[in-house]
Amino acid sequence: MALVVQKYGGTSVGDPERIRNVARRAARYRAEGNDVLVVVSAMSGATNGLIALAHQITDLPDEREMDVLLATGEQVTIALLAMTLLSLGVPAVSMTGAQVRILTDSAFTRARISDIDTAGIRAALSQGKIVVVAGFQGVDAEGNITTLGRGGSDTSAVAVAAALNADVCEIYTDVDGVYTTDPNVCDRARKLDRISYDEMLELASVGAKVLQIRSVEFAKKYRVPIHVRSSFSEVEGTWVVEEEGNMEQVVVSGVAYDRNEAKVTVRGVPDRPGIAARIFGALSEKNIVVDVIVQDVGEGDRASMTFTVPKTDLKKALSVIEPVARELGGAEVRSDTGIGKVSIVGVGMRSHAGVAAKMFDVLSREGINILMISTSEIKVSCVIEEKYLELAVRVLHDAFGLSKEEG
Ligand code: ASP
Ligand code: MG
Repeated sequence: MALVVQKYGGTSVGDPERIRNVARRAARYRAEGNDVLVVVSAMSGATNGLIALAHQITDLPDEREMDVLLATGEQVTIALLAMTLLSLGVPAVSMTGAQVRILTDSAFTRARISDIDTAGIRAALSQGKIVVVAGFQGVDAEGNITTLGRGGSDTSAVAVAAALNADVCEIYTDVDGVYTTDPNVCDRARKLDRISYDEMLELASVGAKVLQIRSVEFAKKYRVPIHVRSSFSEVEGTWVVEEEGNMEQVVVSGVAYDRNEAKVTVRGVPDRPGIAARIFGALSEKNIVVDVIVQDVGEGDRASMTFTVPKTDLKKALSVIEPVARELGGAEVRSDTGIGKVSIVGVGMRSHAGVAAKMFDVLSREGINILMISTSEIKVSCVIEEKYLELAVRVLHDAFGLSKEEG
């Protein structure tokens, strides 16, 4: 007998038949003697549809009202799932974020959970009900509806699991787990049985979009074991868990890539203290997140600074940087959207030397030029020309022994 939190993503609840499948699975877990709480996303496409609707009204929808609108997506699903369960004769009750009292701050469209009141949930569970909770939404101290940012239902599920001290948080999706790399790019990608929170955080941040990053941070902090698996099959998925002793034996656990960044170079800036602070200060004031940064010495007393920003922020970044560059003595600003970032990730890098060198060697053998490099304790990233990105993923995946045996 365990307390199980199950989260079903948009495709898993995409139509009535799929909702019936979800209901059957949740009911089976309950019949096996578990307490079951289900967190659901909006039906696939629903959130995008609501956003599009708002933009037909105005270019800049008020954020409080946006959250009132977006929260309806998940409210539809909890009602449909609870109805399905009840029609099957299974006791169930739906709850919105506000009904549970998933308390958040007031940062509309990107709120953070501060506390979860478990009393109502526990009461319903103790009556033998399956509790169906709306993901992605909460309520602030003033009673306003809030949402947690795109993909936020993962975070709802893990946060509820943490608050209830659940035995497991199962995340049901349309893939059967976390892969060594994107199977669409590399057909020799393998499903991982287990991966540590830290590796998952690095993989999520470099483009493997299986879980919302914040849900993994939550899981790590509160030690919630996550089981990522498919709602369309019974096979075991991938466990995201605390680091285990033998995990370091594997040097590289995954290869990730990201084609959503653009490169900006500011040339001919004075080589003296305070310049980097000036440039990156201006960007951070506009909430632009800078990723890889490289500074190199140019001629005389001039240097150049190259960095990456999300492609969607490039225009904004240039409008911030160009005046700063002029102010710094006519430095020239260039940008390039034809780049991509490939990263290798693994906790084993802590105890193995030469991993970065091997990565550079593998890329060079393919004639791939490395434009920028950045590293962390368990990750090495290279920015390269976008046209080589998929090739880079495949050769690195092979070179670090991740590919499944052929045949
Ligand atoms: N429905 C929300 C979205 O599409 C939240 C989620 O699915 O996790 O982003
Ligand atoms: Mg998702």
